[in-house]
Amino acid sequence: MKLEGRRESENVEDRRSMGTGTKISLGGIGGLIIAGLITLLMGGNIGDVLGMAVQDGGQAEGQVEYTQEEQELAKFSRQVIASTEDIWSQIFKEYGIGEYPAPTLVLYRGGTQTACGQGQAAMGPFYCSGDQNVYLDLSFFQTMDKQLGVKGDNSSLAKAYVIAHEVGHHIEYLLGTLDKAHQRMQATNQTNANKYSVRLELMADFYAGVWAHYESRMFGSISDRDLQEAIDCAQKIGDDYLQKRAQGYAQPESFTHGTSAQRMKWFKLGYQTGDVRRATTFQESDATL
Ligand SMILES: [Zn+2]
Repeated sequence: MKLEGRRESENVEDRRSMGTGTKISLGGIGGLIIAGLITLLMGGNIGDVLGMAVQDGGQAEGQVEYTQEEQELAKFSRQVIASTEDIWSQIFKEYGIGEYPAPTLVLYRGGTQTACGQGQAAMGPFYCSGDQNVYLDLSFFQTMDKQLGVKGDNSSLAKAYVIAHEVGHHIEYLLGTLDKAHQRMQATNQTNANKYSVRLELMADFYAGVWAHYESRMFGSISDRDLQEAIDCAQKIGDDYLQKRAQGYAQPESFTHGTSAQRMKWFKLGYQTGDVRRATTFQESDATL
């Protein structure tokens, strides 16, 4: 997507020089990345929305050198989060919701402390409502290219979609949906909790689509090819697709993020309508979701 000349957000906390946090983030990076995909994209007990505490770990100071690619990705992330600020401020105004309190994007490496417990790169990008931060280890973008085979360069809409999806969880939090769903999830069994999780995830995909709609309308930054790459990305992070790839079969009751078809559908619906009132994932039946 075209982002030349666009502003970079100030709401970014760069913790990349603070060290990797825990021992496991060194040495086993390949395995961790695979585990990260499974956790982030396929679910498990920890999804990419953290509402619970996970194990604490320490921080270690270290000398950090950045590659040119990392710096480009950091700039790209600052530009994308800036765009989400402009667009969600606009949408909140349009719909009379009030001021938009933007989240902070935290860039880190390996592991970092969050109000939801210790964050690990292995979890993939995630949002913590406890501190209203979006956490991103930039190595995830390489994972998308290498392990998922998501097409697109280092400023692709597919990569922006990952950030916009996490911001989508922040919108859910601001509108009260996230807490309500987390309460219901804690009061039910795992299978039902997974169903709530899927609806939260598809809503975040929808909001990412709404963001892309406004990007296109306000900035003309999105080509047909960009859009196709983002839709392909949504397809490749569907629970059914990832489970079949990992284990040869899919277990629908364990889905936490939705199928490929569902993820594509809700992202596209957001993109096509640009209408936040269409975020109806909790009103749909299993059949129409
Ligand atoms: Zn999510």
